[in-house]
Amino acid sequence: MSATDCLFCSFVSGEIEPEIAGETRHSLAFRDTDPQAPTHVLVVPRRHVANAADLAAASVDELADLVLLARTIAEREELGGDYRLVFNTGAGAGQSVFHAHLHLLGGRPMQWPPG
Ligand code: C5P
Repeated sequence: MSATDCLFCSFVSGEIEPEIAGETRHSLAFRDTDPQAPTHVLVVPRRHVANAADLAAASVDELADLVLLARTIAEREELGGDYRLVFNTGAGAGQSVFHAHLHLLGGRPMQWPPG
């Protein structure tokens, strides 16, 4: 998929306006429209890359920026340091949008293993 027909690129450009939860120079965070926890935020790089591994290969700093923004939001939402960060990578692992995104989930007890 190219950046021109990517949903999350449309969020980053502002062509489609998600419910913004935070942002940095490199990253944008917005509320998932089908939340799986009281806090369910997606943190995406502004640049189009397909998954987290591709982002790491392109820029370790930009990968780290996703995690740091997630931490800021978790603190703001008073999750008490208890939250889950997930990168689904590949359709077989549940990835449905092929623009890298970090799921921040919190506000309820978490089970392991995940489904
Ligand atoms: O990891 P995965 O690729 O499945 O995650 C994509 C996420 O994007 C889903 O949690 C889905 O609910 C969310 N989504 C959204 N707004 C859309 C389309 C998908 O928040 N318009």
